[in-house]
Amino acid sequence: MTNRLKEDLIETSQFGRTPPKKIESYDQLDPEKGVVRPDGTEGNKKIRDYTVARMKEAGLQVKIDKVGNIFGRKEGSSTDKGTVMSGSHLDSVINGGMFDGVLGVYTALEAVRRINDEGFENERPLEVVVFTGEEGSAFTPALLGSSVLAGQVSVDEALNRKNAAGQTLGEALENIGYKGSFESSLDDVEYFVETHIEQGPVLDKEGISVGVVDGIVGITWIMATILGEKNHAGGTPMKARKNALVAAADIVSFVNQQANEMVDKLGSATVGTVGKLNVFPGGITIIPGKVEMGIDIRDVVPKNLENLENEILKAMEDTRKKYGVDIRTEVQHIHVPVTPSAEVVNIIDSSASQVGVTKKRMVSGAGHDAENIAEKVKAGMLFVPSVNGKSHVPLEWTNWEDIEKGAQVLTQTLKNLSWR
Ligand SMILES: [Zn+2]
Repeated sequence: MTNRLKEDLIETSQFGRTPPKKIESYDQLDPEKGVVRPDGTEGNKKIRDYTVARMKEAGLQVKIDKVGNIFGRKEGSSTDKGTVMSGSHLDSVINGGMFDGVLGVYTALEAVRRINDEGFENERPLEVVVFTGEEGSAFTPALLGSSVLAGQVSVDEALNRKNAAGQTLGEALENIGYKGSFESSLDDVEYFVETHIEQGPVLDKEGISVGVVDGIVGITWIMATILGEKNHAGGTPMKARKNALVAAADIVSFVNQQANEMVDKLGSATVGTVGKLNVFPGGITIIPGKVEMGIDIRDVVPKNLENLENEILKAMEDTRKKYGVDIRTEVQHIHVPVTPSAEVVNIIDSSASQVGVTKKRMVSGAGHDAENIAEKVKAGMLFVPSVNGKSHVPLEWTNWEDIEKGAQVLTQTLKNLSWR
């Protein structure tokens, strides 16, 4: 077995790390120092350069589109069948881990290299893709490169997005040499597969090497402002208060309890989190007059997500009456749930059986480029375990044996898809 994939992942682990250091094992990770590779940074340029060089070395034709997405193509024996595309992203969150995104790009590249080595004849063309700005860590919104490819965001809109320093994406790409000239589309793409780290604890805990993703959660945010009356904590009798934080506490509990109940009753993948709470004026001797709250709810079943949203809004109405406060809400439907193509899911599943790798069906609780691509072409995802369920932190890790198994399943999947 070749260690080419492992060598590439060790090599890329130094980019965007200060000081640069190649990581080969979990115990070499520094819990404080991860990678910083938002688009336009030095680390981002280095990992792009390294990846393009590896693509060319593998004999792929490399093209960069107008928003910096990178495509490495191997033609197939047929000239009129749609492409099988696979890949992910190379940008990172600030102080993130070494595998998020990178693993999906390099397992795809390795799959094509193995297909070359074996002399396997692919009928459909194969394309390795690197999406710009998946994390939204420099240019919002997240999933920017794949949004352009899927036609949800225009090229100009994306290029004019600005980072915190006021630089546009267009300028940032120009600086690092990745402002390409062609306008990409999914018109000739038939299938898309993305390998990704799970970013959760399920596979690691159960000792299973590959997750076959059969649902990607939808995300809804409910932003609420609760208005009570600020007043003196000593002088105001208990019965004369309109405490915004006490009302907020009811809602925090309700979200947690309701999501738990849905999991118990429906066996659903529902999650509900109040992760943002600002209390005003925020003094120990003052009854809180205002609370701003951010609620994040997720589910793979559209109906469940809708029901939970409605239940929360109803509970807010009850809270409003109970405490005599005013509650203003703004609901943002961040992304609807995405169901991967059943055809692709089944092929990933049977490919895992074919190469003898343990697998389980599961849902993705995080957003990925695949959800954009899935709106246009038949798409699927496979997960490999995240040690201790950690991701978006320096201690993000996946064991080398699991990475190898993921690569084997992806290689088989691409072979199978290339002949459909
Ligand atoms: Zn990612």
